[in-house]
Amino acid sequence: MKASLTVWLCLTTLLYAGSKPKTPTEVLIFTNVNVVSLRDGTIARDMTVVIKQGRISGVAKVGLVDQGHDIQMVNANGKYMIPGLWDMHVHSAFVSPAWDEKVIYPLYIANGITGVRDMGGDPDVLENRRKRVQSRELLGPHLILAGPFLAGGKSDRQTIAVNTPEEARQAVDAVKKQGLDFVKILSNVPRDSYFAIADESSKQDVPFVGHVPYSVSVREAATAGQRSIEHLTGVMLACSSREDELRAQELTALAKRDYAAYEKLGPQIISTYDQARAGALFLQLARNNTWQVPTLVWTQANSHFDDPDLESDPRLKYVPASVRAQWDPVKLRAGTSPEELAALKAESARDVELVKVMHSAGVRFMAGSDGPDPYVFPGFSLHDELDWLVKSGFTPLQALQSATFNPALFLGRVDKYGLVEPEHVADLVLLDANPLDDIRNARQIFGVVANGKYYSRKDLDAMLQQVAKLALQE
Ligand SMILES: [Zn+2]
Repeated sequence: MKASLTVWLCLTTLLYAGSKPKTPTEVLIFTNVNVVSLRDGTIARDMTVVIKQGRISGVAKVGLVDQGHDIQMVNANGKYMIPGLWDMHVHSAFVSPAWDEKVIYPLYIANGITGVRDMGGDPDVLENRRKRVQSRELLGPHLILAGPFLAGGKSDRQTIAVNTPEEARQAVDAVKKQGLDFVKILSNVPRDSYFAIADESSKQDVPFVGHVPYSVSVREAATAGQRSIEHLTGVMLACSSREDELRAQELTALAKRDYAAYEKLGPQIISTYDQARAGALFLQLARNNTWQVPTLVWTQANSHFDDPDLESDPRLKYVPASVRAQWDPVKLRAGTSPEELAALKAESARDVELVKVMHSAGVRFMAGSDGPDPYVFPGFSLHDELDWLVKSGFTPLQALQSATFNPALFLGRVDKYGLVEPEHVADLVLLDANPLDDIRNARQIFGVVANGKYYSRKDLDAMLQQVAKLALQE
């Protein structure tokens, strides 16, 4: 944070206090703010942060700006500034049309989330929204977009069937041609198709991410260049001393649609965990930069539909009425036996432990929620995920990095996102308390800068109120 003041100074007028909260201004200035570096956790105290046209132009002790500018000043005395957060696994246009852009996007912004990686939904809808967010027509986070899901079976509006290697190559080509950011793979992709996707993605220079299919091992996925693995798919199996044999049994059970037999393999996978195999695997994942997005909050939600407090969650007021009806815990539990529920709980607890071991072995992680699946509240649930990462042994700094610096690194855009430094996009969150002391302080949001505009606590509350109002009608 050296004082590179002269860059943004032209004339000699002292900071001009003209606060216009609602109108976008050319220059936005925060004074007396404690800037948290997500590189190393250092805090630069009592700083001035200057933003011009949506970019950070200076971070320094004192500042001067030329008089001609339209300036908005915010005294952020005692507040902590972090970069905008990223939720690296969402489905903002997939689960239900009731989660429309006016409901779901303000929930991200009000929770300090200024970027999301959308992992699958209607690509036309998402591309249209992305354009409108970019042109400031629509309030929303930056959108990094998956193509349609690549899966076995049948194609539909948001899925491309890849039952053969030829179909797989054509699907990658289609994603690339449509200008989408990456290829998303589901669990039932056949083995030959998977390796065709990997090869074509490399040729076309478009990353592929997603589930590790049943037919492929995590080792093979890492070697094939899969950039991120979601929900720790296949990781536990890859740590088993009987990996090949259990995979063969899994594939047989799935081919016969014998889901009871498939479920029964879970405890065997856990009980044959081999520490040496796990260690070698994690080393490979760390070396290969195979990122993990464990979505612990999603796994927890899925295994706790029997929680008596579910229906009194105050965040339910932001869930569209039609979706809320689907979130009836009785309906969600239907078809799950007490034994199955117990097994799901054991798996979710095991995931927390698995993340702990993988993280200490140097595997890289990003925070993602998989909202808005049932009881994974868009926006809010990213903060739940940060809590879970801390429960998995992350320091608050490491948890915050998983939602700021790490996504920027993953996306190859450390020059643009994930840091409060000059030349970076002004995606910022102001907090009432130091998030490095306690990760829950990241929920104490005083203000957010998104797409160059400042939203005070009052603005964010109004935003949430409006969502609650719309949710009643949807
Ligand atoms: Zn997902």
